[in-house]
Amino acid sequence: MAKKKYRVAGGCQCCMTCLYQCPAKAITLIEDVSAVIDPAKCLGCGRCYNACQPGAIEPYETEE
Ligand code: SF4
Ligand code: SF4
Repeated sequence: MAKKKYRVAGGCQCCMTCLYQCPAKAITLIEDVSAVIDPAKCLGCGRCYNACQPGAIEPYETEE
């Protein structure tokens, strides 16, 4: 069954807002480069997506 998850698509400004929003601690930051979401930990809640002002995070569907 398809599951909705989220990923950092580009345009991350390293503000770290999403890191604090994630209930699963699925997001880490490569300093001065980009936030990265671990798909194995992502619950698909969308909190990071809603919190990201630059719109750097996007949803996607996965069969995993
Ligand atoms: S909230 Fe958006 S811009 Fe800020 S660190 Fe997360 S992905 Fe990057
Ligand atoms: S969708 Fe939810 S669980 Fe997944 S990375 Fe974003 S805040 Fe964390």
